[in-house]
Amino acid sequence: MGVLSEFFKGLRVTGRVLVDTVTGDGLVTTKYPEEFRQKPQRFHGRHVLNRYPDGMEKCIGCELCAGACPARCIYVRGADNPPDEPVAPGERFGYVYEINMLRCIFCGLCVEACPTEAITMSSLFEMSTWNREDAIYTKDELLMRPDGSVPHMFPDDPLARHKELETADGWLRATAPSGVAAYEGVQGWQGTPGRANWDPEPDQEARDA
Ligand code: SF4
Ligand code: SF4
Repeated sequence: MGVLSEFFKGLRVTGRVLVDTVTGDGLVTTKYPEEFRQKPQRFHGRHVLNRYPDGMEKCIGCELCAGACPARCIYVRGADNPPDEPVAPGERFGYVYEINMLRCIFCGLCVEACPTEAITMSSLFEMSTWNREDAIYTKDELLMRPDGSVPHMFPDDPLARHKELETADGWLRATAPSGVAAYEGVQGWQGTPGRANWDPEPDQEARDA
């Protein structure tokens, strides 16, 4: 009798899971690619080159990101800013900028090394390509447009969640001082899409509210 009751108890679980699966109630997976799961705030995804609120490029072509990259997958060349039409504040700007995504290990060290917060990482992870050349992202593909949107090399690719980069949730920094008390009141890295958000880091109470 005991064995029989255990048998029916187990069968009940099987039936419940079957019904939940058919109705969709019990699914623990996301229906990707129809549904997109919210990524963690510090997700290390596809890189973006940022601009200042006035449209100037943040990259000054200093090559520190390339020097910090353990995978040696960044290629930068700086050039003098045209005096009449400067591209970036200061003397120089990055006129060549490439990242070989096949070699990138998405460690975020380039983001850490950048003195101007020019290079940050987004939540976009769909970067499959048909050939090796397409995996080398050039400046045209990395640099945000003056309106704050981000170009994508495969705009027609249904898997390229380009739109995600244009939302506040999709525009991320690789690492951030957020949560470290010493950074309270200090202007943090850009955490919003488009033109920079210059709000300082909130204090612990405001962050927890
Ligand atoms: S995330 Fe890491 S491996 Fe990728 S480009 Fe930046 S420093 Fe290099
Ligand atoms: S992205 Fe930053 S670290 Fe890299 S060259 Fe530009 S300014 Fe320098």
